[in-house]
Amino acid sequence: MNLSSIEAPLLNWYRKNARDLPWRHTRDPYKIWVSEIMLQQTRVEAVKPYYARFLETLPDVYALANAPEEQLLKLWEGLGYYSRVRNMQKAARTIVEAYDGRFPADPAKLQKLTGIGEYTAGAIASIAFGIPAPAVDGNVMRVVARLTGDSRDVFDPALKKEYGKRLAPYISKTDPSSYNQGLIELGATVCLPQGSARCSACALSEYCTAYREGRVEMIPAPKQQKPRKIDLRTILIIQSDTEVLVEKRPDKGLLAGLWQLPSLDGHRTEDEVLAHARRFGLDVIRIEALTPAKHIFTHIEWQMIGYRLTLSALSEIPEGMVSASLERLEADFPLPSAFSAFLPYLRKKKAKQ
Ligand code: SF4
Repeated sequence: MNLSSIEAPLLNWYRKNARDLPWRHTRDPYKIWVSEIMLQQTRVEAVKPYYARFLETLPDVYALANAPEEQLLKLWEGLGYYSRVRNMQKAARTIVEAYDGRFPADPAKLQKLTGIGEYTAGAIASIAFGIPAPAVDGNVMRVVARLTGDSRDVFDPALKKEYGKRLAPYISKTDPSSYNQGLIELGATVCLPQGSARCSACALSEYCTAYREGRVEMIPAPKQQKPRKIDLRTILIIQSDTEVLVEKRPDKGLLAGLWQLPSLDGHRTEDEVLAHARRFGLDVIRIEALTPAKHIFTHIEWQMIGYRLTLSALSEIPEGMVSASLERLEADFPLPSAFSAFLPYLRKKKAKQ
């Protein structure tokens, strides 16, 4: 099929059917950028409250550039992939220093900013500045693959580049924002994955090769899932009457630099945990096993067991840890959601006090 045929029906459909989303009421590149970064790996409904809170606290690129790291992490708590917000701050600082606080209206320059890839640069350029640059995300890949009847692997990054080049000449010159958002919206609401495509309601069905040839279910080809790596962890809640211990994760790797409940590699027995605590000089008066839990990251699954260690007092703080009251823990030490299964044990103790 020729992609040149779809502009008018796509724009027409999008203008009538676009969902009313908060970030669709602005052409401010900062706000569009925030929404695009949040929407990576996170559902639209889940993003809405985060988006509102983030912009209320950090309304412009200067506020983001100057925000303390703990505040950033707190605003991002629950969204996961914290490197995204750290990269945003780096990019915000570059925008302040190199561009006088104004986003460059140029996809190539946008792509040079930390954390902004080809898709995000195209989205900001087209939505905020009206530049007909392609913005090819997973939804657009699926729609274009079906429209053109292309059954190659849409998860191949090289194909993404190819699709960007293929689409570029056809992006509407009069309304590139609606064109790009139309393709994204069609993929998110009509041209759905895994046997859920609503072809009978699709404004592009008469131009669609996969539909015409009865191959919608076969495109894109199912992804070959790599098995997740299983990581065994032992999580410790180490509490005195008033305080709990937390530690910082390493600066690199999964959940880099974030606070966590003290954790040990592997599944440890009670005796091993007590020996570990003694080495740290902790005076444990009670140890209780907690209900095991798991947390799934993209490529890794944590299978966690846990213990609550009650201390007589917290006279000595082990190296690398800090102690905090439960109130301070909530306010100042954002813990990744991977630990959420163990947090009720902290609250339970608090309720008794
Ligand atoms: S006709 Fe079906 S497969 Fe083709 S673009 Fe529309 S929803 Fe997708």
